[in-house]
Amino acid sequence: MPAARKLLPAVRRFAAATGEGLAALLYPARCFGCSAKVDSPGLCAACEAELRPVRPPFCDTCGEPVSGEIYGDVRCTNCSGREFGYGFAIAGYLATGPLRQVIHDFKYHRRLAVRATLARLAEAAFDDPRLRGPEAADWVVVPVPLHPRRQRERGYNQAAEVAALLARSLGLGYCEALARTRYTSAQARLVRDERLANLSEAFALDPSPEVRTRIDGAPVVLFDDVFTTGATADACARVLRDHGGAEKVVVATVARG
Ligand SMILES: [Zn+2]
Ligand SMILES: [Zn+2]
Repeated sequence: MPAARKLLPAVRRFAAATGEGLAALLYPARCFGCSAKVDSPGLCAACEAELRPVRPPFCDTCGEPVSGEIYGDVRCTNCSGREFGYGFAIAGYLATGPLRQVIHDFKYHRRLAVRATLARLAEAAFDDPRLRGPEAADWVVVPVPLHPRRQRERGYNQAAEVAALLARSLGLGYCEALARTRYTSAQARLVRDERLANLSEAFALDPSPEVRTRIDGAPVVLFDDVFTTGATADACARVLRDHGGAEKVVVATVARG
């Protein structure tokens, strides 16, 4: 029987490949943005072409694109005269068109399959020269946490799902250092001051000694799927800096709202 035994793995591989081929034939991959048929899971060429990368000039603090010819430092009106827990925030793309759709499906329709596409898009944020200095390999990626109740509702923490893949592909450290201690609901309905008050106590450092060792003195990239007002990022960054002893905190996101 030795010949048959040798043949078995080849037969298994053939069966598996045929099965995969059959599955692809029966259920062709669909574009995450527009549902057009695609060869492999991801975005179709038309949706890729609609993506809008964040390119300079943009605000040095929050990454908001600004128009016109700009020389020297750029600070948008929203950021000028304000202090944040993070040094700067940078996004890969604007949250428009197909990307907005993909992120929405990821958050609210349990479409976990998009995470690899989002991790790839998030890499664009790491093209920023400020993330490519001598300490480039030392950054520790920390995802913005969800409250356990929200995470149960959603099925996963979308920021952590993308951040873990991203850190692996860029060869960076990864640490789920934060916990969301308050279930903050309906942020959108609150005015800005209420929102900030609601958020300021909403996050805490994970108390485990491993986390403390990892974050103390480290340059941290706080990661989220979308940067909108920056209030969440600010609250998280302050905890990492003031309670975790992070050397500095910057923010990277897939998209900018
Ligand atoms: Zn498409
Ligand atoms: Zn700004």
